[in-house]
Amino acid sequence: MPWPTLVDAEIERLTAAEIQRQNTGLQLIASENFASPAVMAATGSVFTNKYAEGYPGRRYYGGNQVVDDVEDLARDRICELFGASHANVQPHSGANANMAVYQALLDPGDTVLGLRLDHGGHLTHGSPVNASGMTYDFVGYGLTPSDERIDMDQVETLAKKHRPKLIVTGATAYPRTIDAKPFRDIADEIGAVLLFDAAHIAGLIVGGVHPNPMDVADIVTFTTHKTLRGPRGGCILTTDEHAAAIDKAVFPGQQGGPQEHAIAAKAVAFAEAATDEFKAYAAQIVANAAALAESLARHGFRLVSGGTDNHLMLVDLRPFDAELTGKEAQLVLDEAGITLNRNSIPDDPRSPFVTSGIRIGTPAVTTQGMTETHMVEIADLIAETFRSRDDKALIASVRERVRTLCEPFAPYPF
Ligand SMILES: *Cc1c(COP(=O)(O)O)cnc(C)c1O
Repeated sequence: MPWPTLVDAEIERLTAAEIQRQNTGLQLIASENFASPAVMAATGSVFTNKYAEGYPGRRYYGGNQVVDDVEDLARDRICELFGASHANVQPHSGANANMAVYQALLDPGDTVLGLRLDHGGHLTHGSPVNASGMTYDFVGYGLTPSDERIDMDQVETLAKKHRPKLIVTGATAYPRTIDAKPFRDIADEIGAVLLFDAAHIAGLIVGGVHPNPMDVADIVTFTTHKTLRGPRGGCILTTDEHAAAIDKAVFPGQQGGPQEHAIAAKAVAFAEAATDEFKAYAAQIVANAAALAESLARHGFRLVSGGTDNHLMLVDLRPFDAELTGKEAQLVLDEAGITLNRNSIPDDPRSPFVTSGIRIGTPAVTTQGMTETHMVEIADLIAETFRSRDDKALIASVRERVRTLCEPFAPYPF
């Protein structure tokens, strides 16, 4: 029987509309990027058809000779990049990767130390509405009020008081380098396992602009679609000590059949990340973030922690305009073709739905080829949009300027 359709007209139309949106606007969401045509080709490949429950050489289905080579290639490539001894490339997402680690190491009710959500931590670091927070007893550490950096004295005090079995570090909205070493020392003092969640910064690590946490952590989890610029997915790296428990927790513990098309695309992304071009890319992400932060500061915004070391910044809108909320900022920027997300700032007086801040990231615009001079223009466009927020015509003119800026840098011009 032939397939009933070779193209789906509705989805074709929507795909064209989305390509248009990505090509003509500024994508400043810190967790987003533009995957390469090679990554997308693998994602759309025949590996989507294959059931491969288990691991290379130990599958529950036949016909996995080729798939085994794909998954081995992905595992070898990522182990090489991080200097890790074992990789599990099957997690469907960063959240799945973290939940698998918890299942491998913890019993329900066990105590875990993680970064507070309102200070930059992730949902899977113990949010009460997430399975992590429902299943385990998370205790949150935070930032110092003075310099808005992770408060290592607090981490140590809480670790000694609560004796967690696991310490989690890593963040979803933290603009500074996270040094894993002091976490290692504290974990060793109380006999805890150390997990570094590198979801956002995996690309910065393999690109050589952020220290490699695999040197000190027991386990590193990350997503493959953020700065690493691969397909949507997750990955776990571990020392040999935890390898068997981690593999068992991913399958059969959390997931069924692995998405081998995504794993093939992960392998492609890992090869891309091993190149000198990728090192230059990672360095440019950071240079662009620094330039954008500096330009925004000149417009009168406050940068949380005073700036950025990585690919993102948190912007406190209040010094620029006390009335402007993160929610309103996100909405009006959307009208101007500038896509980003509202974000709580540390100890935000407004609710997480409203917020006083926005989060801005440079991975996507850097993939497009933009450099420091374009960051100055982006800061101007953001400030201009806010100043014009009650004037539809002015916002429409900013939208045109965004379109003109993006035109030579369209990620998918074909
Ligand atoms: C994005 C992120 C995750 C989750 O990744 P998903 O693929 O969206 O599930 C986990 N941890 C951190 C720190 C993140 O930033």
